[in-house]
Amino acid sequence: MRATVMFGAGDVRIETIPDARIIEPTDALVVVSRACICGSDLWPYKTMEHSDTGRRMGHEAIGVVEAVGADVRTIKAGDLVIMPFAYSDGTCVFCHERLHTSCIHGGFFGTGPMDGAQAEALRVPQADGTLFVLPVGKDDALMPSLLTLSDVMGTGHHAAVAAKVAPGKTVAVVGDGAVGLCGVIAAGRRGAEQIIILGRHAGRIALAREFGATDVVSERGDEAVERVRELTGGFGVHSVLECVGLEDSMRTAISISRPGGAVGRVGVPQDETMPASRPAFYNNVTVSGGPAPVRAYIEEILPDVLEGRIEPGRVLDRVIRLDEVPEGYRAMNEREAIKVMVEI
Ligand SMILES: [Zn+2]
Repeated sequence: MRATVMFGAGDVRIETIPDARIIEPTDALVVVSRACICGSDLWPYKTMEHSDTGRRMGHEAIGVVEAVGADVRTIKAGDLVIMPFAYSDGTCVFCHERLHTSCIHGGFFGTGPMDGAQAEALRVPQADGTLFVLPVGKDDALMPSLLTLSDVMGTGHHAAVAAKVAPGKTVAVVGDGAVGLCGVIAAGRRGAEQIIILGRHAGRIALAREFGATDVVSERGDEAVERVRELTGGFGVHSVLECVGLEDSMRTAISISRPGGAVGRVGVPQDETMPASRPAFYNNVTVSGGPAPVRAYIEEILPDVLEGRIEPGRVLDRVIRLDEVPEGYRAMNEREAIKVMVEI
């Protein structure tokens, strides 16, 4: 079968590799219908050292179950499923606390020895806990939005939960990538009164406004902080969704939080330490967040997608075939595309 393998920075190839297969009795074999390239795939795309064996890529997918292992109970061949970016058993102490990304039998697709989803098929461990069976058939119009439930929409929602977004609150979203844009949707779903998007890319800002952003701040650094304060009566916002992961974006996020506010961070941090420790301390700012337990959120968000109240799939602004994936990485890396969908 064909699959995406990254051999080093800027070196993504479609390789022919041994067919995915069931190894553990709790596995499912999923034939991928649609996958994505993720903003987080761009970090290794920029920095990965050369590897002769390479790394399988992709962790977001919708697909059809081809076969299941002997111990799988709730998933069956023919099911149309969402595959969250992390696998989880659904039964351990952390899964019961709805923190599936900390599952004691869990892990992440497209890392270490795990299969990746930018491929014709992949092995899914802990199939009963991991996969979410869709109650609909393959509907081309809905597929992009359903696909975002495997990562970016759930991640934007997690940022909003961690940032304690609630009805009537003021919210700022740092980052105009796919997750930031989904964060705008999530803040609106949770009843935010004011949603300020920090970004400067015209097309992304326009989409943010359609998703419900009320204000745009295109300045950076101290000027951005000043501008957000102006828009919020001088105090800053109740909730900040940090959707980038760089030192500067985190510093901005903490600096625009009002006293007693909260930052929900879902951008993968690229530094060991957190900036702006003193302002966070003196303003009693809560900093929370991490890898989103998207498996826990699918059920809650799904009706809004199925009934057309939200359209997070609009962040998928470029559609390619599997053999075009290397070009897809280039386009996302150069910010020509917000997020790329791969039709397998
Ligand atoms: Zn678990």
